Amino acid sequence: MDTIRFTPKVSFDKRDNQLRIADQLMCLHCHHYNAHLLRTAEDPDYIDGPRILAGAAENVVAQQLANHLRDFPDIRSSAQRLSVAADMFRMYGFVILDFSKADEKGGTVTSPSSHIALGWKVKWGPRETPCCHFNRGFIAGAFATIYGKSPGYFKVVETQCIAVGAESCVYKVEVNSNGNK
Ligand SMILES: [Zn+2]
Repeated sequence: MDTIRFTPKVSFDKRDNQLRIADQLMCLHCHHYNAHLLRTAEDPDYIDGPRILAGAAENVVAQQLANHLRDFPDIRSSAQRLSVAADMFRMYGFVILDFSKADEKGGTVTSPSSHIALGWKVKWGPRETPCCHFNRGFIAGAFATIYGKSPGYFKVVETQCIAVGAESCVYKVEVNSNGNK
């Protein structure tokens, strides 16, 4: 199937310097910022930083993709919507997500190039545990919207990560055992 491009409605408020994409405020950062953000979220042992990062991404992506699909109702099939989500990920600079081996029942999503993992490696070097919490949230949020579920319905675990030495980041997608949220 041909790629369906993510061509969202974009507005910029010059007075407040606010960029909105598909009705959501946006701020795009480089790998330096994102690597520091990730480290800041992971370092304290008294908060679950990875869960916060993944959960925030899940909610934001679910809403933004829903806004976009509301604006472009001709994008109907799951395959088209997955293509749009993959292009959204690419356009924001997070690079590549391959959704071809997952559907509403779950499966495997692969990222042969991940901004989060590569940014960490370039800035801090290799690490021992997967770090693409944002990507986990992106996948969970995109799947929730594409398959008409709420955030929290899908559980995404990163089983291999480029920052740990794998060739690709690999994410296992499942329906949450306490799903239907
Ligand atoms: Zn990764």
